[in-house]
Amino acid sequence: MRQPYLLLDIDGVLIPFPDADGSTPATHTRHDVVPTGRSADNPVTVWLDPDHGRLLMDVIRTGLVTPVWCTSWRRDATTLIGPLLGLPPLPYVDLPRPRITTSHPNGYLWKRDHVDAWLGDAPAVWVDDDFTGLDHAWAAERSAEGAPTLLVQPDPRHGLRPEHLAKVTTWASRLPTARIA
Ligand SMILES: [Mg+2]
Repeated sequence: MRQPYLLLDIDGVLIPFPDADGSTPATHTRHDVVPTGRSADNPVTVWLDPDHGRLLMDVIRTGLVTPVWCTSWRRDATTLIGPLLGLPPLPYVDLPRPRITTSHPNGYLWKRDHVDAWLGDAPAVWVDDDFTGLDHAWAAERSAEGAPTLLVQPDPRHGLRPEHLAKVTTWASRLPTARIA
């Protein structure tokens, strides 16, 4: 069995959704970034927790998973967001740009069909705040078919917490082919 991928979402995971009053966690730092296709005088404000970089590096250094961005930030995850957290340039899933008005156009996460094809039969742990019951059923089905699949779903108002990543490493270390780097 191949080493599992660690698929990483950004919005609702590394960038928390604001509370009803518009506030973001005190742990997060404000950055203005200019995504691809936007002009420099029209930046996007994002809030990032510097601790997330350290926590993700701890996971990466275990050598248990192959980290890949899986986010509508696409290449900007690699070139803009990752570096703000002190992460090396990680590969990214080049997601399509469907014309959709909901993240679940067919009742499940819009990224999933593309991810399913991208993964083939590789094991994967996928961190995203936006899975539905159909996604969890998909993960169970993949696992039953021999491609272990774990979905980790942070609350988008709080984002990623250490226990989510503890879940990732515990799961990966228990796979038959797990090797500690
Ligand atoms: Mg998200």
